[in-house]
Parts: sequence; C-alpha cells; structure tokens
Amino acid sequence: TFETLASDFYDFESALSDQEKEAVAKLRAWLESEVRPIIGDYWERAEFPKQIVKPLADLGVLSYAWDETKPFENSALFRGFLAVELARVDASVGTFVGVQNGLATGSISICGSKEQREEWIPKLAAGEVIGAFGLTEPLSGSDSAQGLRTTAKRDGDSWVLNGQKRWIGNATFSDITIIWAKDVEDGQVKGFIVPTSTPGYEATKIEGKISLRAVQNADITLTDVVVPESLRLQNANSFKDTAKVLRATRADVAWAAVGTAIGAYEAAVKYSQERIQFGKPIASHQLIQDLLVKSLGNITASIAMVKRVSEMQEAGTLRDEHAALAKAFCTSRMRETVAWCREALGGNGIVLDYQAARYFADAEALYSYEGTREMNTLIVGRAITGKAAFV
Ligand code: FAD
Repeated sequence: TFETLASDFYDFESALSDQEKEAVAKLRAWLESEVRPIIGDYWERAEFPKQIVKPLADLGVLSYAWDETKPFENSALFRGFLAVELARVDASVGTFVGVQNGLATGSISICGSKEQREEWIPKLAAGEVIGAFGLTEPLSGSDSAQGLRTTAKRDGDSWVLNGQKRWIGNATFSDITIIWAKDVEDGQVKGFIVPTSTPGYEATKIEGKISLRAVQNADITLTDVVVPESLRLQNANSFKDTAKVLRATRADVAWAAVGTAIGAYEAAVKYSQERIQFGKPIASHQLIQDLLVKSLGNITASIAMVKRVSEMQEAGTLRDEHAALAKAFCTSRMRETVAWCREALGGNGIVLDYQAARYFADAEALYSYEGTREMNTLIVGRAITGKAAFV
C-alpha cells in the first residue's frame, strides 16, 4: 500500500492517481528489498548490478513514458516521482534508468521515424536492448552544440562515422549507442542508432570515479563505423533536435536531484534519532534540527519547482530555459542538502555503511552532467536578457 514519504512534507504525492500510487509503492518496496541492501557494495566495487535490469523493466519503469509501451495512462508528475524513488535509494540506478529511458529511448521517441520507434522502443522498454547516448567528446563538453568533432559521411545507402566520445553512461554494456555526429556535407548534427557490435566501435570503461561509481561510463572510439541510412534518426536534422531530448532529460535530472537529496535527508533523520551524544539523541540538539530543517526546505522547494515543470511538460509549454533553471536550481539545492546531511552524521557521514556518504559523493556527478550549473545558468541568462553569453 502507498504511503506518502515523510520527506514529501507538503504531500505533493497526493496529486497522483490511485493507479500511479500503487505503481510507486511497488517500485519503492522492490528498491528497498532488492537494491538498497546490495548497492553500497556495488558502488564500492564500481560495478553495475546488471541483474536488476529485468526486474526494473518488469516493474514498468522503462515503459511508462512511451505511447508504444505504456501499460496505463500516466502523468509526467508520476514519472517524476518514479525518478525520486530510484534516486532516493541510489543515484547510479537512477542514472542507469535516466540513460536507458530518457536519453536513449527518448532520442528514438523524439527524433526517430514511426518505424524506428516501433522497432526499438518496445525492446528498450523490456530491457532486452540496453541503450546509451553519445554526445560528449574528449574535446567537447559544454560546447557540444557547436564543438562536436565526430563526423558522419554519407556513402550511398550508408554513413561512415569517425571520432571519439567520452563519459557515455551504460556504454560498457550497451547494445546500441545513439551517436551524435556532424554531417561533413551540411555541417549539421545528426543522430545514429549504432549497434555496438559494429566493426570499428570500441568502448572502454572510465576508471577511478568518485561519484556514481555503480553506473558505468565509457570512452568510445569510432573508426570507420558503417551505419545504414535506416539507422539514422530520421527527425534529427540539427542540434535543435538533440536539444529537444536534453530539455526532457534535464527535467528528469532535476527530479533525480530531489530523490538524491531525500536519500541523504532520510539517512540523516534516522541517524540523528539513534546517535546519542551529551546523554541524548543528537536529534534533540538545536543545531542538528537546523541541518534537517534546512534540508527539508530545499527538498520541498525543489519538489514544488519540478512539479510545475512536469505540468508544463504535459501542457507542451516547457521551454529550454525552464528545464535549465530547474536543473541548475534543484542540483544546487541537492548539493547543499547532501553536505548538510552528511555533516549530521559526523565521521560516519563519510562511511558507505551509513548511506549519507554515497549520496554526498553521487551528487557531484548529477550537478555536472546534462549541462553543468554554469551552462544551464547561461541558458536561463540568455532567455531573460536576450543576450547569449556563451557563443
Ligand atoms: P567542460 O565543458 O570542459 O567544462 C569545464 C568547466 O567549465 C565547467 O565548470 C563548465 O561549466 C565551465 N564552462 C565551460 N564553458 C563555459 C562558459 N561558456 N561559461 C562559463 N563556464 C563554462 N555525456 C553524454 O553524452 N552521455 C552520457 O551518458 C553522459 N553521462 C555522464 C555521466 C557522468 C557521471 C558525467 C560526469 C558526465 C556525463 N556526460 C555524458 C558528460 C557531461 O554531460 C559533461 O561532463 C558536461 O556536459 C560537462 O562537460 P565537460 O565535462 O567536458 O566540462
């Protein structure tokens, strides 16, 4: 049965339908029993628990957003709360879903033809095909709208891709990677569904991460990778189309930031009731209450913001700057919150066993990926002043 989270202080979840609440409750129970007990260990070993992909798909997490696969009518708000549930248990698992469902499937949904959507979305939703999204490059991160070096050259009915990608989530074991490359003829960015078994495609795991250690990122090299025209995303004609995918996924990351903050907050509330100092639980010390209340304030303000973002998504009125503000704001509030919550655990705040440390470390990646705080700030700055500060 569904219960509103104590950290959802204003009961935003009451806006969900009964069917949606039931689905949230099911996912929550599964994450608590199957993921929370094992994830610290996977995080420490920097491995992804691949065995959770099928159950995640069976729970519908990879299906709800798409017309081709959704089991029942559901709202953007509901999908936001699913992102909260995932990240409040583990942000790497949330990121895996964000890449599979938002970036990879989202690219095909937004930029693919009807045939491409019908072919790929059901397989991705079932977890039969693992997807990745390759935009960032070693020499092009924030400036990927104009700075991509990866090239695509038309050759009869095929395209030949050459270049390098960096940071690509899920790409150590993806079956397909969406590769964004510049057409050497017209100079526009185009998208390709690249099966990772294609000769010339090579992915290498990035080692030594201190954040989101359980999710896997890869460096990719593409050497004369030949892709048929049928695998070019038919409605991706320039970076403007790539940006449509990012608009949706930035809103998802804002939701995931709320979940990450909640995860840390819950760990801090629990610990503060159990830890005794000066003869009483630290929860009864005023300065600990201050940390908890400031954290709850951040979480509550952020949920209010992303709830409105979801409503605008549904109404079709969400613009790039709206998603950018939510991403920059909610990840900044998350970053403060996880630090306060870690602080509330003292020394145990830096030990994986007590959970707060994992959220604290993971927050750093959420803060920087899908557009850094600076870049999202500049997107909003351009909208409010009419002046682009980054071109
Ligand atoms: P840079 O662009 O080099 O920026 C470095 C610093 O300079 C930042 O602080 C930035 O804000 C600042 N800066 C740059 N330009 C300006 C400017 N004009 N004004 C002010 N400040 C500026 N990419 C993918 O394509 N697919 C993925 O699946 C993916 N997953 C990721 C997962 C993780 C864990 C991480 C860390 C990254 C991932 N990324 C992925 C890449 C991510 O989107 C980039 O890291 C991000 O866009 C920033 O690019 P960069 O790291 O090259 O930093």
